[in-house]
Amino acid sequence: MGIEAASKQTQLIIDFLIIGAGVSGLSCAIALRRVGHRVVVVEREKEIGQSDVGRGVRLPPNLSKILYRWNLKSEVSAFAAKSKQIQISRLDTGDRLGDHYWDDEVLRETQGEFLFGHLADLRKMMYDVAVGQGATVRLGTTAVSVDPKRREITLDSGETLTADVVIGADGAFGLVRPLLLNEQGIQEATKPTMCMYSATVPKALVEKDPQSKHFYEPKVISMFSFFGNNQSVISHPTGGLPCFTFTLFRRPHDEYESSHSEGMRAALESVVPRLRNLGPMISQPRRFPIFEHPPLEDWLADSGRVVVVGGAAHPIPTGSTQQYAMGLEDAAVLAKLFSHLATDSQITDFLYAFQELRQPRAQAVLTSETGVIHYMGMPNCPDQEARDQAMQEKHKAGGDLFSGDDESAEWAEIKTVFGYDAEDEADNWWVTWGLLKARSSFNDGAQHVFATSPS
Ligand SMILES: Cc1cc2nc3c(=O)[nH]c(=O)nc-3n(C[C@H](O)[C@H](O)[C@H](O)COP(=O)(O)OP(=O)(O)OC[C@H]3O[C@@H](n4cnc5c(N)ncnc54)[C@H](O)[C@@H]3O)c2cc1C
Repeated sequence: MGIEAASKQTQLIIDFLIIGAGVSGLSCAIALRRVGHRVVVVEREKEIGQSDVGRGVRLPPNLSKILYRWNLKSEVSAFAAKSKQIQISRLDTGDRLGDHYWDDEVLRETQGEFLFGHLADLRKMMYDVAVGQGATVRLGTTAVSVDPKRREITLDSGETLTADVVIGADGAFGLVRPLLLNEQGIQEATKPTMCMYSATVPKALVEKDPQSKHFYEPKVISMFSFFGNNQSVISHPTGGLPCFTFTLFRRPHDEYESSHSEGMRAALESVVPRLRNLGPMISQPRRFPIFEHPPLEDWLADSGRVVVVGGAAHPIPTGSTQQYAMGLEDAAVLAKLFSHLATDSQITDFLYAFQELRQPRAQAVLTSETGVIHYMGMPNCPDQEARDQAMQEKHKAGGDLFSGDDESAEWAEIKTVFGYDAEDEADNWWVTWGLLKARSSFNDGAQHVFATSPS
């Protein structure tokens, strides 16, 4: 087992310089190396995972599918656990609203699995794979400026690095997104609309509490979701680690005056005891603001050679299920396109194709993920009562929450979001547009050889 090179390798090898070794940056490094390009990544952290304390993650099927395609299933299985069920309850009373069991048939269709893990483990695995494949990853290295025209970045040491393409994988608050916002005259959001508390709770402590040990009792590995009045909680095992992931979304975001621990304690005051009891077991909760970021019109700088991916391109609320998946999908599409590179003149075209393919998908997922957070934390009101009643009726009748009814909106959404195939989308673009364009420039007399196969 282990990573495999892609069957389609680039004819023209170029240099990519990636700012940021988060999930998106490492995904791009792996994907671009797989098709034969040279890659250098700069990351300000001295050690991968240094800042990932208390960050359990969900890895949805559209993410795991890509890693499996790259032949990394055994590497993923080494740290991740497979989710079998979601239990949904009221946050204040603990009353059960419904259950969902992952259906093998659905998951087979998506070609992935729904997994739990720890962010540090995911990133370390990806770092090892990227380096093993020949990417240069320079840790403890901070980019302080980017010159899009020269395709050059300056490091805090004063050193400059240039490449054919610079990729901003430096997150929503990095260097490259503001540069693009500025070029496009777009004002960044300044005030958070929500916040998210995140922590891991030691399994040994949870198991000692008679009311909370329930989280570890089920025979199947479950995600617990609690719907409350302007707040909601998601908790699940942290892959194979002996701790439990705890994520609390809260609106409005008005608690910057308090410390992270005080804020979380206050948020837990009126919740069901089995969750409230977790509060004292959490030693280092972290609070993250959630902003509603304005969309970038273009993911490329005007120079055409600096592009953003992942959180820098399309920030999705912190703690939601899809952001890492979006970074991986970006990487898979980018690399598929650049596997067809034959001439320098195609570089900017491919970056625009990347944007064209990824923007609608990222916007659709952003809308759906934001909707999920608002749905879970719907304020107490007649709509919320109707929601709870409908869920409870279905549950009492023995129905699965996402019943598998082909007509249901939830089912359709699961199929669209989880079933999406990033690499197929890129292949389709190449067959429909890329080859055509390549052939027409060949007919115009360009001196290069074109690939004739889409895969
Ligand atoms: C607690 C928590 C839980 C989450 N859970 C999930 C989840 O379950 N599923 C999910 O999909 N998403 C989740 N998210 C959302 C997720 O964090 C972000 O949306 C995601 O991190 C974006 O990934 P990225 O690689 O694009 O950017 P980032 O993760 O922000 O990575 C950017 C990287 O760039 C580096 N960097 C930044 N600036 C520079 C510079 N100037 N020079 C060098 N390096 C630089 C940073 O150190 C960082 O390593 C969670 C977030 C949090 C906080």
